[in-house]
Amino acid sequence: MKNRLVVLGGGESGVGAAVLAKKQGYEVFLSDCGIIQPQAKALLNEHGVEFEEGIHSLPLIMTAEEVVKSPGIPDTVTVVEDLNKAGIPVISEIEFAGRYTDARKICITGSNGKTTTSSLIYYLLKNAGLNVGLAGNVGQSFAYQVATQNYDIYVLELSSFQLEGMYDFKADIAILLNITPDHLDRYHHDLQEYVRAKFRITQNMAEDDCFIFCRDDEISMDHLSRIVLKAKSLPISQKIAVPQGAYTEGNLMKVKYGEEEFQMFLNELALQGKHNVYNSMAAALSAKIMNISNPVIRESLTSFKSIPHRMEQVAKVRGTLYINDSKATNINSVWYALESIQTPIIWIAGGQDKGNDYEPLYDLVRDKVKALICLGIDNEKLHKSFKDKVPCLIDTTSMKGAVTHAYEMAQPGDTVLLSPACASFDLFRNYEDRGDQFREAVRKL
Ligand code: ADP
Repeated sequence: MKNRLVVLGGGESGVGAAVLAKKQGYEVFLSDCGIIQPQAKALLNEHGVEFEEGIHSLPLIMTAEEVVKSPGIPDTVTVVEDLNKAGIPVISEIEFAGRYTDARKICITGSNGKTTTSSLIYYLLKNAGLNVGLAGNVGQSFAYQVATQNYDIYVLELSSFQLEGMYDFKADIAILLNITPDHLDRYHHDLQEYVRAKFRITQNMAEDDCFIFCRDDEISMDHLSRIVLKAKSLPISQKIAVPQGAYTEGNLMKVKYGEEEFQMFLNELALQGKHNVYNSMAAALSAKIMNISNPVIRESLTSFKSIPHRMEQVAKVRGTLYINDSKATNINSVWYALESIQTPIIWIAGGQDKGNDYEPLYDLVRDKVKALICLGIDNEKLHKSFKDKVPCLIDTTSMKGAVTHAYEMAQPGDTVLLSPACASFDLFRNYEDRGDQFREAVRKL
C-alpha cells in the first residue's frame, strides 16, 4: 500500500483523482463538506474509495501524506489553512494526474477563450487522426482519463485555480491567450497575484517546449518582459507581423513555425469575431508544432461548430438574429461580442456583478446599442454606467421578460445579444441555465 492520499472535493476532478489514486495503490479518502452527487458516489463505491460528505473530519484529513484539492475550494477555508500550517502538501488534480502519464500535453489558459480554443485544438488533432483526450475544465477530468484511457496526447484547459496547485507538472505546448482582471476576489484584489498564477503554465518548460502567447495583450507582455523562459516563444498578434508565431495581414491569417508556413483567409474561419481570430491562430500554431498538414488545419478551422453559450447563433426571427453569449461573464468578453456585431444591437446584460468597470465598453455601446435590457436583481450599476449612452433602458428579472422586450423592440436587421458581463447566480443556476432559458424563450417566439 502506498501513502495516504486525501482528496478534498467530490466533484468531477476530485472523484477522478480518487479513482486514479486508488488504481495507483494509494490509501485514498475523499472528503466533501457539501453534498456529493449520486453518480459520483456510485463511482467512488465502484472503485472502493472511502468518502464522507457534509463535513471535513480533521482526524481523517490531517493524517494525509498529500492532499489533492478541488480548484473550487479557496485557500482560505480552515481545513486548507490547517493543512498548510501542518506542512502537508496540497496539490491540484492536474498535478497529481500528470505524474501518471507520458502523453504530450497541450495546455491552454487565459481569462477568456480557454474552452473555445481547447475544443478547437482537440477537434483539429482528432481530425488529424491522433489519439487525443480533452480534459481540464471541460468534460471528464484529466485524472479519470489517465486512469481509464490510454491517450498519446492531452489537450488541457487550465484555470488559474488549477494552476495554483501545480508544481512539477510540465506542458509540452502552453498557450496563454490573454489576461484581463477576473476572479480578483480570490487573489486579494491583486492583479499581479492572478498574473503569476496564470504564468505557472510555463513552469518547468525546457528548450524544446513551446510557449504561445498574445503579443497584443499588455498584461501578458509586461510580465513576460520581467521573466526568463527557456521554452520557444511564439507570439500571436493582430497588430504586427512576427517572424515565428502567427499574425494577421490584411484579410489573411499567417502561421510560421520553423520552416513551416500556413495561411488562410479570415473569412473562411468557422469562428468569426476578432477574439476568435486569436483562438484560431493559437490552434493553427499548435497544430503546426504537432506537425499536422495544412489541408487538415484548413478544413478543421473551417468546419468547427461553435460551442453553446459562446456567441452561439440561436435563430433568426422576423429578420432579427438572436445570439446566446451567456458565458460572457466579464467585460473583456462582452467587448469582443459587441465589437464583432455590425448591426444595431439590443443588448441583454446584468446579473451578479464581480466588481465590473464598464468604461471600456462605453464607445462600442454608444455606437451600436439601441436598447439595454437589464436582467438582474440589482441593476443599479448598469443604469449608472449606461443611462446617458443608450436611448432605451429596461429592467426585468426573467429571461422570458427580457426576450419578449427585445422582440417587441427589434427591427429586421437588428441583433439581440445576450452577453451579460456578470455571473448568473442571482437569477439562474449557472451560465448554462441562463443560456438555455434564453434559447428556449427565443424558440418560443
Ligand atoms: P473560458 O473557457 O476562458 O471562459 P470561453 O471559450 O468559454 O472561455 O469563452 C468565454 C467568453 O469569452 C465567451 O463570451 C466568448 O465569446 C468570449 N471569448 C472567447 N475567446 C475569447 C478571446 N480570445 N478573448 C476574449 N473573449 C473571448
